[in-house]
Amino acid sequence: MVSSLFINPFSEDARELVRNYGALDGIADTSEELQEIVKHTDGQNIDDNSLIPGSIMELAVKRLEWYLKREKREFNHGDYAYLLNPEIQEYDVLAFYVLAQATGAKFRPVSREARLVVESTGALIEERFRVLREGERDEITGQVLHELGSGDLRWIELEELLRTRKLKLTDIILDRGRVIIEGDDFMETFQDRIRDRRPERLYQLLVGSGLKETMISRMIMQRTEDYIARVHEMRSRVQPHPLILEAAELIASRVSEEMFAFTGTSVKSAGPGKLVPEAFPPCIKGAMEGVKSGSRNDAIVLLLTSFISYARLYPSIFRDRTPMKVSDLDPDLRITREEILPLIYDAAEKCEPPLFEDDPQEKLNITAKLGFGVHEEPEPENEGESRWYTPMSCEKIKIHLPDLCHPDRICARITNPLSYYNRMKWIMKSEGKGDEGGDEEKDSE
Ligand code: SF4
Repeated sequence: MVSSLFINPFSEDARELVRNYGALDGIADTSEELQEIVKHTDGQNIDDNSLIPGSIMELAVKRLEWYLKREKREFNHGDYAYLLNPEIQEYDVLAFYVLAQATGAKFRPVSREARLVVESTGALIEERFRVLREGERDEITGQVLHELGSGDLRWIELEELLRTRKLKLTDIILDRGRVIIEGDDFMETFQDRIRDRRPERLYQLLVGSGLKETMISRMIMQRTEDYIARVHEMRSRVQPHPLILEAAELIASRVSEEMFAFTGTSVKSAGPGKLVPEAFPPCIKGAMEGVKSGSRNDAIVLLLTSFISYARLYPSIFRDRTPMKVSDLDPDLRITREEILPLIYDAAEKCEPPLFEDDPQEKLNITAKLGFGVHEEPEPENEGESRWYTPMSCEKIKIHLPDLCHPDRICARITNPLSYYNRMKWIMKSEGKGDEGGDEEKDSE
């Protein structure tokens, strides 16, 4: 029988389960019951013993491993089918807390590891909603929203979710600051104001199950982030259990293994390589010449910063789909400081009027778009304060920076300037005009 434990590790029932579990001494012990549930999950691959988590600690690490592998080509759902089996829910709640505590005990709240744990939590919730039967899904959704205190939710309580862009203001329905989620509430609030449309239909369109599930996953992500931050803050006062520290080491090594696995392709093709300006697409060549129009700031801060940094450090991002930080590829930030930023600053200088003279704040925004928060220069201790932005798509460029888009014959086959770059390098290599590019032709975004 599915309960809200399958979705919400922050319910009162979940907390009671953790309290009743008591000391952490047994989290690494083999549990036959857990193994039986895993082995008897429909579609579970049982050919390889390493795929079967034997203990709560192993299950905790598997939750993260699933997330790290799921976007890769060789990912096999059958290796992790048990994560979507509701019978695992009680073990899973314990595993969630082991994962979150281990993360808080070893890593900073803004670290890559903490971010991956938070993201994996949200992704798993969304997957789990998908496997629930319809009636079951509505029931669990209603229950979890109630547990998360959505009954009288005001938008200000979602401030953190909105600030961190886990949720968009345009996603939610408001009435005088109150967030409207439930159907009855929607009818009561808007019925008299809706003309020429059936309120029930409008509710399904505007709110429906999609928005509720998104809100649930985002709210639980936020609570996971807060929980990790609290554990991290307490670690100087409360010595973490040795098994929690052991779990943290497993997390560190699993993240690092997956980050550098590069899906079986050569590191040369996926990692940092020389920039090949001849392979830049027309929009990037235009931005590098300096921009005169009103789109100057976006051209430099949004388009050029992300393009140059990914083209230099991680051109295969859309193929590998493995989230990386700049320092994973440029550990001492030498390439970033000595090659990437000078190119961007040079283009900023060529703008009319020069970007930083006119708008000095944009220098800080460039640092932020590289993942180092709003600071004058990228510094290792600030990494993770913001996200390393991937290059915007051609579709967005055509809308927001139309003056820069002058498509040529290659453009017809790509949807992102970075894909253009990879394809052009491959063409140049196959025509004997360059030695960069490897197997980039099959790049996709
Ligand atoms: S189609 Fe895309 S890559 Fe080509 S110029 Fe336009 S934005 Fe750039």
